[in-house]
Amino acid sequence: MEIRLLGTGSGDGWPNPWCTCRSCTWARATPGAARGQTSVLVDGTLLLDTGSARRATVPLDTVRTVLFTHAHPDHADPQPLLWRQARAAREGGLPPLEIAGPPAALDLCRDWVAPDDPVTWTPLRAGDQARLASGHRVRALPARHWPQDPHVGPALLYDVDATLFAAWDTGAPLPEAEHPTYEFVLLDCNNGFLPPYPEHHNLADFAATLADLRARGAIGPHTRVVAVSLSCANPPGPELDAHLSRLGAEAPPDGTLLVSRRAG
Ligand SMILES: [Zn+2]
Ligand SMILES: [Zn+2]
Repeated sequence: MEIRLLGTGSGDGWPNPWCTCRSCTWARATPGAARGQTSVLVDGTLLLDTGSARRATVPLDTVRTVLFTHAHPDHADPQPLLWRQARAAREGGLPPLEIAGPPAALDLCRDWVAPDDPVTWTPLRAGDQARLASGHRVRALPARHWPQDPHVGPALLYDVDATLFAAWDTGAPLPEAEHPTYEFVLLDCNNGFLPPYPEHHNLADFAATLADLRARGAIGPHTRVVAVSLSCANPPGPELDAHLSRLGAEAPPDGTLLVSRRAG
């Protein structure tokens, strides 16, 4: 498995355009430090959330499945689906595309695909397992992210091929679920040093969830733990890196490629 971190930031990005805090000032002054909305490209074929699709530095033409975590617009941004039409108008032909995720996220996208666009829809709810058109097997797990709001999803976390645990946006503790030992865990760390908040992790929650996942065996000695959904509530890069390092985690910059050490 190869995971391209297209974006590792919060909904408002880091820096937040409206903010001049110490963390945002540091991010503006540091080349390569800016973080866009969290989304990742898995094996070139599975696009997990679209918030940073417009900033992707790699082409997305090989994507066969777009998989959404929830219907917040920084995750289920439907505009990239429209851009497929623009490319087809110039070059002809549209490859098939599966759009998968919570029903509310799929509903956000329906007006953005043309009637003749070869799109298929795969609604997912917590507990569902699916073999996606991208070839990946996913297990949808419950998130703790406005669970009672029908416009959000309900929000989901994903086990992808028992290798990647995509765990954003969610508060702590994570809802009960069975887990294998993952090779990659990408965990929400939206709220940095802010007080506890039910819909996202702050750094204390992040540490507690990692301890819980370690106790359950979901994180083993070789698991790479990556903090995502990072906002400027987190400290500037070197301080965040030091803090995460003590927790056995890291926050590589947007654009980083994580490569599996397992065969296949
Ligand atoms: Zn800020
Ligand atoms: Zn959200």
